Amino acid sequence: MAACRACGRALTGDEIGMTKKMINRGAREFFCMDCLAAYHRVPVEALYKKLKEFRAMGCTLFAPLPERDDR
Ligand SMILES: [Zn+2]
Repeated sequence: MAACRACGRALTGDEIGMTKKMINRGAREFFCMDCLAAYHRVPVEALYKKLKEFRAMGCTLFAPLPERDDR
C-alpha cells in the first residue's frame, strides 16, 4: 500500500490521484492531502474542492463515488 512521502500516512486512491494531478502524472511517490496542501501552500479544503471538480469531469484517476475500498 502506498504511503505519504512526507509524513508516512497510508494513502487513499484519491490522494494518489491528486498527487498525479497536482505534481506529475508519472509520479511514483505520493502525498496525502495535508502534505499536498502544504506543498502547494493552499488550504486543504481547496484540494478537496478540486478533487470534486476532477471527479465531476469524469477524470479516470479518481474512483467514481461511492468510494470503493479495494485494499
Ligand atoms: Zn502526508
